[in-house]
Amino acid sequence: MTDAGLHIESVTKRYARRGGMATAVDDVSVEIPAGQTLAVLGPSGCGKSSLLRIVAGIDTPDTGRVVLAGRELSRPGHAVDADRRDMNMVFQNYALWPHLRVRDIIGYGLAHGRHKTTKQRRDARVAELVELLRLGGLEDRRPAEISGGQQQRVAIARALATEPRLLLFDEPLSNLDVQLRAAMRAELAALLRRLGTTALYVTHDVTEALALADTVLVMDSGR
Ligand code: ADP
Ligand code: MG
Repeated sequence: MTDAGLHIESVTKRYARRGGMATAVDDVSVEIPAGQTLAVLGPSGCGKSSLLRIVAGIDTPDTGRVVLAGRELSRPGHAVDADRRDMNMVFQNYALWPHLRVRDIIGYGLAHGRHKTTKQRRDARVAELVELLRLGGLEDRRPAEISGGQQQRVAIARALATEPRLLLFDEPLSNLDVQLRAAMRAELAALLRRLGTTALYVTHDVTEALALADTVLVMDSGR
């Protein structure tokens, strides 16, 4: 089993709760073939973010494991560091650094840590992403000086910069107003198709799941 996709195998996650344990993710198995998008769809509290946190390496599973491109990333009690997983995440609240300019946010992963590269290469990659996400002219602005939709495009550009093997999205459009959400949904669907990056997309919005995903995993009460 050394294909390039993501394999989630029998993953369970329990949290301590008053009077005992609550099961947030209950024996979930699913795979995403390389290049495809899986949407995880379900109501608030059904365990979507818990599952995503395990794939991202923020949490470890109580049972099961996560394998990406044949490499085991998580098992009970063990998780490869989040920054060594070859994946990036786009959150619901954009998590942009308020004091940085757009160009530095997008290039952040190429200026620090494992993917650090020359300034020349970084500038070239940032220019590519600015073009891809239609952020031209905004490079020197700070997050507070651009719109919510633009902020979310910056967050996507930042996630793409290091060319990760897997992209993770946790309800990335939920904070946008209805019209903007519809526009971004279409834009993101086209982008994911064009890039051919493997993606795991968490949402409670059925329209979003159907527009974006090759496959939809419906979750309810952790199952
Ligand atoms: P979703 O993202 O689908 O809204 P979550 O994965 O955030 O759902 O939560 C699933 C369940 O696990 C909920 O009942 C939630 O209260 C519980 N839960 C999530 N994170 C924690 C935590 N860190 N500690 C205790 N319970 C948690
Ligand atoms: Mg959630």
